[in-house]
Amino acid sequence: MTAINPRYSFEFFPAKSESGHANLLQAAQQLTVYQPEFFSCTYGAGGSTRERTLDTVLQLSAKLGVPSAPHLSCIGSSKAELREFLWHYKALGIRHLVALRGDLPSGMGSSFGELHYARDLVELIRDECGDYFHIEVAAYPEMHPQAQHFEADLKHFADKVKAGANGAITQYFFNADSYFYFVERAQKLGVHIPIIPGIMPITNHSKLARFSDACGAELPRWMRKQLEAYGDDLTSIQHYGEQVVSALCERLLAGGAPGLHFYTLNHAEAPMAILNNLRIKTSA
Ligand code: FAD
Repeated sequence: MTAINPRYSFEFFPAKSESGHANLLQAAQQLTVYQPEFFSCTYGAGGSTRERTLDTVLQLSAKLGVPSAPHLSCIGSSKAELREFLWHYKALGIRHLVALRGDLPSGMGSSFGELHYARDLVELIRDECGDYFHIEVAAYPEMHPQAQHFEADLKHFADKVKAGANGAITQYFFNADSYFYFVERAQKLGVHIPIIPGIMPITNHSKLARFSDACGAELPRWMRKQLEAYGDDLTSIQHYGEQVVSALCERLLAGGAPGLHFYTLNHAEAPMAILNNLRIKTSA
């Protein structure tokens, strides 16, 4: 059942300062030993990081030789704007995209813009550029926080894939069964693309709790209680997080997950500790 050649990928967010950008590049450089399939860089709500996302992706590809994918969200943008981005990306040799609906900056209505769902963006990319781009979309084993119910969300995911996605990356989760159930149900709806688990290393309890509330990822009671018990003891939190997330990854790979996509938060240490625990072969 274990995937034969699991693939690894790493996600960054565009840094705000020069020193932050230098740290990002250094973290990415450290992670190249795992021969990543790709790096990706997030896109700020409503396009707020457009230039920095593109700049980061171009530098990751040029300096480290790893294919790198910009995330692109559609909500709040016109079709003409999105077509322009696609042609610009194409002219720059970018071949890999993470296509999302995105969240609008607060205060803007959800019906803003011409495209309302990620599926609309996938359709626009395929209409405009055919098969040129490799498209990843987002998946939510524990359900998207705004979805009415699991079945509706699963069907919307399947429709988005059928519009032309090549792969999916999940929101992070700590319950492996939610992933296996989601994959099994998606397959029954005719989805046969790789669905890569998104992995969030645990390095800080309060940040993790805040992220998890916002994105609908469940922090199980047994983990929350233990993290609370560590209080401000960051070393114990990191050690505990490394053990728990390594065990999760081990179970996912043993159960057939086709790879792992790490939310690095621009740091290499935690993903490296996990991959080393898994004894993933490096090129070093
Ligand atoms: P969709 O797939 O469009 O789904 C959004 C919601 O709409 C779901 O509840 C779905 O069930 C519902 N829906 C879909 N189609 C229909 C329909 N036809 N009718 C009714 N309801 C429907 N955000 C950023 O701003 N920048 C990023 O770079 C970024 N990167 C991400 C990377 C990953 C791997 C993941 C998992 C998330 C990322 N996000 C990012 C967050 C994402 O933008 C939000 O979760 C957003 O709310 C949903 O985006 P989506 O592409 O999943 O939307």
